[in-house]
Amino acid sequence: MEEGCPVCLETGNNDRLVVRDSSVAVYHMGNVALPGYLVLAPLRHVTLWKDLEESETTSLERFRALAETLLLQKKPIRKVYFLSFGELCPHIHIHCFPRTASMAGDIPMTGGVDGPRIFDHYRTALKTDASPPEVSDMIETLRREFQDHLLTGKSPGR
Ligand SMILES: [Zn+2]
Repeated sequence: MEEGCPVCLETGNNDRLVVRDSSVAVYHMGNVALPGYLVLAPLRHVTLWKDLEESETTSLERFRALAETLLLQKKPIRKVYFLSFGELCPHIHIHCFPRTASMAGDIPMTGGVDGPRIFDHYRTALKTDASPPEVSDMIETLRREFQDHLLTGKSPGR
């Protein structure tokens, strides 16, 4: 745990934690009222992809695929964006951003759906101080679904 690192704090914070194994945590993004906006991160404070251990890479990919599958089963979500910048916080983390059907129509765009613009716009537009009930409900649902999958080892929806 690195002092002052928000991702280190979040991976240890149980309020918005969805699932965690021995090397990776998945938690719900705070302060954005967008149900299903998750963050995937190794528990260790690693700042370069090349420094990840094999178990961390395996868990990140496993949880990433599962997050995609589970989120796409939710009605309004049409696509899941995976992004990693490391600008504000160098601890490796993957934003898992659920793009809903209405988002694609809300901002005028030419030439198809502009993913980076949607991500940028809604991160600001949906900013909030607390976790609204729809976010808390989604956290509960995803906790259960991840847990079910991990216990049975079955792929969801099959
Ligand atoms: Zn950290």
